Amino acid sequence: MKYNKMYILVILLIQSISISAQTEISDRIHQSIRLETDSIFDRLVEIRRDFHKYPELSSEEKRTQEAIKKHLLELGLRVETDIYGYGIVGILEGEKKGKNIAWRADMDALPDDSPDNVDFKSMTKGVKHSCGHDVHMTIALGIAEVLAKNKNSLQGTVYFIFQPEEETFEGAKGMLENGLITKFKVDEIYGLHVTPASVGQILVKPNEMFPYQKEVRIELKNTLSEEEAKELATKIRNSLIRSKDGSKPWELQSLIDPEIGLTNPNTIFKDFLIAEEYFRIYSENDKLYIEAQLFETDSARLKNIIPTIKKVIEDENYSPQLLSVSYIRGNPIVQNDPKLTNSSINVLDSIYGKGIVTACYGQVPYSNDDFAYFQQKIPGVYFFLGGSNFEKGIIAMMHAPYFGVDEECIRIGVRAFSSLIFERLK
Ligand SMILES: [Zn+2]
Ligand SMILES: [Zn+2]
Repeated sequence: MKYNKMYILVILLIQSISISAQTEISDRIHQSIRLETDSIFDRLVEIRRDFHKYPELSSEEKRTQEAIKKHLLELGLRVETDIYGYGIVGILEGEKKGKNIAWRADMDALPDDSPDNVDFKSMTKGVKHSCGHDVHMTIALGIAEVLAKNKNSLQGTVYFIFQPEEETFEGAKGMLENGLITKFKVDEIYGLHVTPASVGQILVKPNEMFPYQKEVRIELKNTLSEEEAKELATKIRNSLIRSKDGSKPWELQSLIDPEIGLTNPNTIFKDFLIAEEYFRIYSENDKLYIEAQLFETDSARLKNIIPTIKKVIEDENYSPQLLSVSYIRGNPIVQNDPKLTNSSINVLDSIYGKGIVTACYGQVPYSNDDFAYFQQKIPGVYFFLGGSNFEKGIIAMMHAPYFGVDEECIRIGVRAFSSLIFERLK
């Protein structure tokens, strides 16, 4: 095919006009996302406090589901509740064709008797939103509202997945097994968790956000004394654990330390194997069992764990007593799609300025999220959202008795992730 020069110039000119028009539309949308988020913020705080006052345990999220349904219907979204448990999906169809993107929020609270240092205390004795899922649901509703108001410019469909039973690791699996992704074809999935980082921060890294979690069981003939079993367990533990320069990655307060915490490239949280302090030792039917939870950052080293344990048993002359060493449990972990992670960072940087996203270099021990099950089926990114305000004494340490959240993180989350979804739909 031949083109003359003039023809090419005209084409280039048209293209550049259309690109700059698109950029202008984009800028306008993100400006509107900002304003819209600010205008609904106080109402979102009320919604969060309502969730906080009425927390529900895994598989009991009935009232929570009803509240979400009411909000979604008011926004004009289609809702689907017949998937799994008290899960609910809100469907927002843009005016134009595009991709299908899902945003996931978890719904359940925790059994927690600790005092609640807020005015909007939990009304249910022994149950508390001390993992921040009240905030996650609120952010999802906020994004739904902001994007619904910009529906005319939206290219594609957004699925807001409100997932029950995260704490028991049943909800994501349940929704997937009951046809969530055969019903809705989802191209990409996103979600977040509040973390003890400062409010205003968004942390993310490609690949693993948490260490691999393995539960190991050693089965022996029951001929060891209690003392011998304890001693063996200690030797096994000592031979397994690994940390950078003798650091203590099991001390979670170090997560936010600027020198050794998650955001420093030299973090102590990128190379470790942590074992629980006390292994479970018990006997049953003439057998002795030693069990422990292990957290390993490096997938390549997982294969060394069982041989290391066997070696210690051999060195301690218990080979004749050894019956087996095996993994009894192990969940998939959150692993971000590297390409999507990088393009998400680029999108957020270009709209909100470099520095909106903080690079995360480590994996958070003892934690995980069943968002991992979605990522096994759909490429996705899971973000950490800073929820602490150290000056105000608010520390968003998940599952801790003093857990608190600076609600300003709702504004950060709604604004940033509405923009991200809008751009990723294109
Ligand atoms: Zn939790
Ligand atoms: Zn959680």
